[in-house]
Amino acid sequence: MSGFAYISFWLNLLIPGRCLLCDGQLSYQKPHQVCSKCWAQLPLIRYYCFDCGRPFSSFNNQSGPASHNCGNHKAEIKLYFRRARSIGLYQGDLKKLIRLFKYHKKSSLGSQLAGWMIQHMPKEFNPANFDYILPVPLHIKRLRKREFNQSLLLAKSIARYYQRPLMISNLYRRHYQQAQAQLKQRQRRLNIKGAFLVRQPDKLHRKSILLIDDVYTTGATVGECAKVLLRAGAERVEVLTLARTEEPV
Ligand SMILES: [Zn+2]
Ligand SMILES: [Zn+2]
Repeated sequence: MSGFAYISFWLNLLIPGRCLLCDGQLSYQKPHQVCSKCWAQLPLIRYYCFDCGRPFSSFNNQSGPASHNCGNHKAEIKLYFRRARSIGLYQGDLKKLIRLFKYHKKSSLGSQLAGWMIQHMPKEFNPANFDYILPVPLHIKRLRKREFNQSLLLAKSIARYYQRPLMISNLYRRHYQQAQAQLKQRQRRLNIKGAFLVRQPDKLHRKSILLIDDVYTTGATVGECAKVLLRAGAERVEVLTLARTEEPV
C-alpha cells in the first residue's frame, strides 16, 4: 500500500460518509451508502395484481386485486410466467439509486438493494419455494461495457438469503439488441424475440424457476425468458424484480 493509499484508507474509516440520496452524514464509512431514513422512504408497491404484479394505488375490497382489474392480461401479450412481483415503483429516489447502481458502476449498491427487496418481500411470495434462482442474462458485449450484470448481483444475494441454487449460464443472450429502454411496448416485444437460448435443457426438466431482473417495464424481456425456459422443459417460471415502471392504476 502506498503512503497516500494508506492515509486515505484510515481517513475513510475516521471520517463518516454521506448518504447518496440526501447527503446527510452517516455514522459509518462504507462506499455508496444510503441512510436509514432514505431507505424507509423509497416508494414501495403495497397493492398489486396477484398475477402480473401491476401496481394498484389502493386495495379494492369489492373485486380484490384480481386479474380482471388489471387490464394487462387482455392485451395480446402472453406473459408466459405464472406470477410476477416487484418490490418498488421505478420513480423518485428508487429510480435514482437504480440508475447509480447500473450506469455509474456502483455495484456495491447491489447487495443493499437486494437486502431492501428481502425486507419487503410480499408474504405470499417465497423465493425459497423454487428449484433455481435465475438472473436475466446480459449480452456479453453489454456485460463488458457495464462490467457487471445488475440482475446477477441481485439474484446472488437473494439466492444466498433463501438458500436456493443460482442458475447462471444455462440461459444466455445470443443477440445484441438495441437497449429496450428506448423502445415502445410493441417494439420491445419484437426486439427481444428470439434473443435468449438455453444451453442445457435437461437441467430445466420439471424445475421451478424464479427469474430476477432489476426493472419490469412491459414484461417483454422476462416474458421472452419465461417462454424459452418453459419450452426447454421448465415446469413453472415466476418473476421477481426490484422495481416496476408502470404508474399504479
Ligand atoms: Zn439519506
Ligand atoms: Zn395483472
